[in-house]
Amino acid sequence: MRCIVVDPQHTLAPGEVVWDAGGRIVQLRRARRAQADLCLLPGLVDAHVHLQLEPLRGRTPPRAFVPWVEAVMAAQRGALPLQLRQRARRAASMLLRDGAVAFGEIDGSGQSLAALRATPASGRSYRELTGFHLGAEASRALVRERRLAAAGAFATGLSPHAPYSVSPELFAAARAASRYLTVHCAETAEEQEFLRRGRGPFRDLLQQLGRLPDGFRAPGIGAVRWLERLGVLAPTTLLVHCQELERGDVARIAGAGAPVVVCPGTIDWFDRTPPPVPRWLRAGIPVALGTDSRASNDAWSMRHELRRAAALWPDLAPSELLAMATTAGGRALRLPGLGRLRRGGRADFVAVRGSEPRRVVEDFVHGRVRPAFVVAGGVRVPAARLRR
Ligand SMILES: [Zn+2]
Repeated sequence: MRCIVVDPQHTLAPGEVVWDAGGRIVQLRRARRAQADLCLLPGLVDAHVHLQLEPLRGRTPPRAFVPWVEAVMAAQRGALPLQLRQRARRAASMLLRDGAVAFGEIDGSGQSLAALRATPASGRSYRELTGFHLGAEASRALVRERRLAAAGAFATGLSPHAPYSVSPELFAAARAASRYLTVHCAETAEEQEFLRRGRGPFRDLLQQLGRLPDGFRAPGIGAVRWLERLGVLAPTTLLVHCQELERGDVARIAGAGAPVVVCPGTIDWFDRTPPPVPRWLRAGIPVALGTDSRASNDAWSMRHELRRAAALWPDLAPSELLAMATTAGGRALRLPGLGRLRRGGRADFVAVRGSEPRRVVEDFVHGRVRPAFVVAGGVRVPAARLRR
């Protein structure tokens, strides 16, 4: 190889990598001479993805959040387990062929792990929990039923969906059952309004679903402070979106050591103002990238997310953007071996034509080069699938 970008800060040029039949790297070293005009980048980590969600049908899918949530719920209703597994497998293979080799996946039905076993991907699967109406006993019962055992290359966790869809008791039950949580947090102004004052479209939606408890009183604080009060803000809780942070929230998140994942495709879909990611990074928050779901993303590729991120945050250097899509993703999922190449780690990489590492990273981040091939867990993602 002309060069191997071991992680966004370190490069071997020229380099060589050898892996074993189990897909583990056994040698990673400087080579005497380059054997091909190729550079290897670490495989991309998609830190937030709902693989089972399909694009919404209809000519004009909603772009306002609560109608969109209702449309997604309607689209998922009645889907059979086999269909959900097929959807997850299809979505995963589309992402894999474009360089995403690891996922932080939100499993809404319990079907994802079976689907993911058929792919060479790895990561963490978070079983989703919702229930704004659930008390302590019902919450514990739900968590017992939904806890997943790790399977194959996937670790597991729980995803109490969001502060507007999960009761304090359900958050407590999730926290007691798993260290590894991920929560949609401060995604919209409506969410903050609901938590602060108990009003707005989320109240109407919960009422309509029969999930607003009798005598409900709003916590009276924003989402981040609410999660902090519930004891959920922690280094092992991955926060998703954080569009609508309030004064003091950046320090609160940084102080707790919680990572954040942003989804550029979703920001574009809902025409949102991009959150101040460079400021978050300066505050020491690990910020990762995710594709979210095909219901709010009209491209479907981590490479597109990188390109979008480069456009949304033009002040970030290519190496910082690549770090969001690789090492920060591994940190976000609490699987720090992901998103970097190291001896003993997984042979997960994206091969790109080129010879000069800095130039290759810049071209890749800006979407100017496509992968020549992708290797996940030592397995080459079939070349035929790389074609669009
Ligand atoms: Zn999501």
